[in-house]
Amino acid sequence: MSNIMQFIKTNRLLTIVVFSYIVLSMFMPDKAVQSLQNSLYYIKEMLMIMPVVLLLTALITAWVPKKTIEKNLGSNSGIKGSILSFLLGSFSAGPIYAAFPVCKALLSKGASISNIVILLSTWAVVKVPMLLNETKFLGPKFMIFRWILTTISIFIMGYITSKLIKKEDLPSEDIKKDAKAGILDISSEYCIGCGLCVKIAPGYFKIDNKKANIINQDIIEEEVKAVNGAIEKCPSKAIKYTCISEPNLTNIE
Ligand code: SF4
Repeated sequence: MSNIMQFIKTNRLLTIVVFSYIVLSMFMPDKAVQSLQNSLYYIKEMLMIMPVVLLLTALITAWVPKKTIEKNLGSNSGIKGSILSFLLGSFSAGPIYAAFPVCKALLSKGASISNIVILLSTWAVVKVPMLLNETKFLGPKFMIFRWILTTISIFIMGYITSKLIKKEDLPSEDIKKDAKAGILDISSEYCIGCGLCVKIAPGYFKIDNKKANIINQDIIEEEVKAVNGAIEKCPSKAIKYTCISEPNLTNIE
């Protein structure tokens, strides 16, 4: 029973979705089938796209030096960083949810909040393949004016967001040294079995059937750095640490 409660607490969103499906199927079974079909369509789409995205994230994490990201996309990169973020978003491909793991990897390597906002927003609303389609359906004049106004808004949004949100406000799975107790967990649906966590913290992770597993929950102080390294470097952000030193479960952030 406590395992079920633990699962529910760490997978609140999934629990709400499953519960909604159960309620919907009781009162409107036809709608439940329709939404299930829609969900399956998106899951299929994600399964096709996400491996490529996670590979890209792994390459950024492993190969691109932190200094390069800090210099080109960091808070001191100025207008050059903003333009680079804009170009990266403009020439991207794929749905917007594919951008989130990439942005998370860039943020952890030193990209600034404003540049991430610019990259994400450009990816979402003014990427080149979308502009071509827009021209086809709504005409070049419409596309050009919308592009200009949207671009101006994106730069303003990047600036305002960077004033309102600091990096400390963003979630981090790091284990704090003063955490008294916690639970390490791996989302097997996200794990791509790359083995990086085993290499970094072999006392805590092992690969079984092409997926990583936790083999030790007792994180001693000398190993905190290694386990944090595995959490940070995991290309698919599949590893989570939940602090249970407080009366309520709290993600360490
Ligand atoms: S949990 Fe380990 S094996 Fe799985 S993706 Fe992350 S680093 Fe790779």
